[in-house]
Amino acid sequence: MGSRAREILGMDVDKLIELLRRAYCDEWLAYHQYWLGAKLVKGPMKDAVGAELLQHATEELLHADMVTLRIIQLGGTPPTKPSEWYTLTNCGYDAPDDPFVKTLLEQNIKGERCAINTYKELLDITKDKDPITYNTVLQILQQELEHEEDLQALLEDYELMMAAFRQG
Ligand code: FE
Ligand code: FE
Ligand code: MG
Repeated sequence: MGSRAREILGMDVDKLIELLRRAYCDEWLAYHQYWLGAKLVKGPMKDAVGAELLQHATEELLHADMVTLRIIQLGGTPPTKPSEWYTLTNCGYDAPDDPFVKTLLEQNIKGERCAINTYKELLDITKDKDPITYNTVLQILQQELEHEEDLQALLEDYELMMAAFRQG
């Protein structure tokens, strides 16, 4: 990172890099959770749910890409070993061991809510201090909000369908 670039940042760069490194781990874990869930998903609406999970997987990987680029621009190094994903993550990892649609939707909604909290926090601390990171985080946050909404809508459809089914 250039000296002037560092000077215009109104914040502790090392602290910011650390938070971005954590977000990077979240993104890789989210990517894997979605990607494998998309392949394993079983139950009613599995095709619609699988397609959405796969789309989200792709977008989480893109988030990892965006976060990585910013870490490098700031002069940091992204976590280089998958073992670090578990130790640095904010949101953890829910293995898709139970591939039932409802379970996978609930697990991933939980993950999205945590991602929203993480990026909202990053947005707050970079506001008026680091416009470049702010812009990147804002783009990611917009997609995480969309992810939560997409999954909630699918869960709602699932519940409506099951209610109709029970009524006969
Ligand atoms: Fe993401
Ligand atoms: Fe997401
Ligand atoms: Mg979507």
